[in-house]
Amino acid sequence: MILPGASLGILGGGQLGRMFVMAARSMGYAVVVLDPEPDCPAAQWANRHIQASYTDHDALERLASECAAITTEFENVPASSLNYLAGMRPVSPSGAALAVTQDRIREKNFLKSHGLATAPYAVVEHRQALGEALQQVATPALMKLSRAGYDGKGQRWLCNLAEAEKAFDELGGTPCILEAGVDIQTEISVLIARAVDGRVAVYPPSENCHREGILDVSIAPARVSPEIGEHARQITIRIAELLGYCGVMAVEFFIAQDGRLLVNEIAPRPHNSGHYTLDACHTSQFEQQVRVLCGLMLGDATLLGPAVMVNLLGDLWREDQAPPWDQVLNHPRAKLHLYGKHEERPGRKMGHFTYLGESVEEALTQARAIQYALTGGEPSPVREHGRADTSPKSMELAAADEMPYLPIITDTLCKP
Ligand code: AMP
Repeated sequence: MILPGASLGILGGGQLGRMFVMAARSMGYAVVVLDPEPDCPAAQWANRHIQASYTDHDALERLASECAAITTEFENVPASSLNYLAGMRPVSPSGAALAVTQDRIREKNFLKSHGLATAPYAVVEHRQALGEALQQVATPALMKLSRAGYDGKGQRWLCNLAEAEKAFDELGGTPCILEAGVDIQTEISVLIARAVDGRVAVYPPSENCHREGILDVSIAPARVSPEIGEHARQITIRIAELLGYCGVMAVEFFIAQDGRLLVNEIAPRPHNSGHYTLDACHTSQFEQQVRVLCGLMLGDATLLGPAVMVNLLGDLWREDQAPPWDQVLNHPRAKLHLYGKHEERPGRKMGHFTYLGESVEEALTQARAIQYALTGGEPSPVREHGRADTSPKSMELAAADEMPYLPIITDTLCKP
């Protein structure tokens, strides 16, 4: 057991690293962050920042010499760096778990080999494989980069071979998966913390609404039947066990219009859809990450009340003008979290707020009203039970690359 007073290390200094650092420091640990970026969000709270690349062995050795145990905030750290660190200090999650979850081809094949349902897919290692892939996978389909894609980036919708070839070339001609478009009813995710001895703490599923591939709103608990929720929790536990996982992990699911529950992807780290746990649960996902890393008892994952989390993207800034934060802060039940990023780019996650409601519906109504006020009154579409717009017009625009992501058919406008 590693007790307060010790130093912990983390690879990656973005917002997930920052919230890990805040949790660890409030529990009395010191934290060293390794990240190539100067003044990254986590470094602002850390005791020390080693500014170096994730493959710099000298830097990794320094991190290991200063810390009792080491974790990561994102899956795109080379698994080999985690393996290198594991030769010197306890590391969680393991390089082996990361190697599966940082590569869509390996991840999908892993799920399939254990009989876990996903959207139908085909592996496309090279351009010549496209014709056969299209015979296996119904269109409209999504071409997804096998590695390094996130927040809907590195993905293209397509309907035929010509579009598939164009998409494959645009994505750099590197290995991809071709995935059938799912007629999605709802997206949910389940967070789990798993300790080295196999004990687990599982959070209730949250319901996720995306806009242009980026998480917009998470609703906890998800408005799904108890059977679907329990099924998703059981699949999450099974995936964590199959991976021999140690740490915090999220599994994203699609619930198709026909009711099938499909695994979309696995995130080997705390997850954006779990940010509500900071304010609405006995134990946040970041405290769980500290607890697992230090070999402490897992915290209670109970949700204390309905919560809605809304992401705050760089788009909210107008000509360098910060959004009217008083619109969040004036609400006694809204909690604002900003990540200390200096450059506000469209689509960049700058912060989030969580609204703690009496009921899910009330929390959603209030959260939407605040979101609407933050945009300065411009309606912003929120996907609730929507789906990708695969109408001929949208597909045509997507193919012409005038619109890299298909718009979502919107059921609800984000109005109070
Ligand atoms: P991903 O990066 O794979 O999580 O994809 C980002 C978002 O794109 C998902 O949360 C979905 O909203 C959408 N998406 C991804 N894959 C599919 C699919 N096969 N069918 C329909 N929508 C999808």
